[in-house]
Amino acid sequence: MATVAKAAPPPVPRIAPREDLNPYRIAQIQFDIAAEYLKLDQGLRQILRTPKRVLEVSIPTKMDNGQVKVFTGYRVQHNVARGPAKGGLRYHPGVTVDEVKALATWMTWKTAAVNIPFGGGKGGVICDPKRMSKSELERMTRRYTSEILPIIGPEQDIPAPDVYTDAQTMAWIMDTYSMTKGYSTLGVVTGKPVSIGGSEGRKEATARGCLVVVEEACKVKKMSLRGASVAIQGFGNAGSQVARLFAEKKARIVAISDSRGGVFNARGIDPLKAMRYKERSGTVVGMPGTSRISNDDLLTMKCDILIPAALENAITLNNVDQIKAKIVAEAANGPTTPHADEVLARKGILLLPDILANAGGVTASYFEWVQDLQSFFWPLTEVNAKLEGVMRRAFQEVHETARKHRTHIRTGAYILAVGRVADATLVRGLFP
Ligand code: NAD
Repeated sequence: MATVAKAAPPPVPRIAPREDLNPYRIAQIQFDIAAEYLKLDQGLRQILRTPKRVLEVSIPTKMDNGQVKVFTGYRVQHNVARGPAKGGLRYHPGVTVDEVKALATWMTWKTAAVNIPFGGGKGGVICDPKRMSKSELERMTRRYTSEILPIIGPEQDIPAPDVYTDAQTMAWIMDTYSMTKGYSTLGVVTGKPVSIGGSEGRKEATARGCLVVVEEACKVKKMSLRGASVAIQGFGNAGSQVARLFAEKKARIVAISDSRGGVFNARGIDPLKAMRYKERSGTVVGMPGTSRISNDDLLTMKCDILIPAALENAITLNNVDQIKAKIVAEAANGPTTPHADEVLARKGILLLPDILANAGGVTASYFEWVQDLQSFFWPLTEVNAKLEGVMRRAFQEVHETARKHRTHIRTGAYILAVGRVADATLVRGLFP
């Protein structure tokens, strides 16, 4: 296999000298770089760099103490040129409209990078789910669903889990939507429990996709995944499944972390034990047989593969000089800033960008949606085989695009993805 071409600095627009941590402006910088490579027309650039629709809603919710609290939520549809909007729903105190716009934009490029027939969307609610009871979360979720109901649906926009939402959240959305319509609508969300039309394999699909592209990257770097040391920031759905699947391939999980801090063991941490410990204690910190480290230490520790699987802006100009991994695989969305990208490329570190490295989740979501629409469900082996096929092909296409344009993998993925959305937009033409 060909090696990754040495990254040339991106053409105009040059990135502003000061680092900007606003995720939406970061998403636009990433787009602008690809648009420049593709020499896109200025009008088309304006269409593609802004979301099609941004909805803000108030969510009055009765709390367990009888008082009413009004939460703010968003649903953003960035682009639907290639199919219905698709993207997760995030519950977090730090949610902002710019964050949701960025996440929706990244979904457009992600679905195009792996070539599945979706556009990009995302939702978020400003709340602190760790301080809410299950029944408060249910009431908030149902009211949020009813507020965004006019713009979601299997043909329009299909939510899925993201940070601090899960299969149960999706079940409440599906039920609320179905009750309003008067019939069960399986395809309105993905990442549902299997008992109501969820897909086998969806829960670990983000991690499985990440594993496939890391395997391919190991071939490029001529290194073995077996025995490789792996550090994972974030031990939620994405991070814990990454740990499990990488350990199954005999990689050594040397460090894991969550919002409370991290733990380290040079001989390897057993992911299943860590999952059970986190289940009981609410954190990985304090797990027997490990020593405590901070999230900052985890990112800069000596390891072969670094997997950010938490939130945005983990790798910035503040720490990029100290990153020692050979491969960085972005299981999280937006963990690396454009400035840090350039430094990683200069250091010869192979970065697998979010729109490729975590696209396994939306790919299995696409399979779930197809199964729901057909009411015909596939066994796990079929889901996994199809997922692997999509991810390996996507890696090859992205790698080839990067090589052809003599750039690094993120920009290669963007050139491929933005090119596909631009083609779809041009051939459809402008309405009216
Ligand atoms: P999750 O809620 O299941 O887990 C989030 C994890 O991150 C938790 O372990 C939490 O403790 C940890 N965390 C939060 N703040 C942190 C901090 N400041 N430092 C370190 N750890 C912190 O969420 P998830 O679904 O695993 O999502 C994680 C990332 O993966 C997000 O960027 C999300 O957009 C992305 N992603 C998820 C999926 C999916 O299928 N779940 C798909 C694609 C991308």
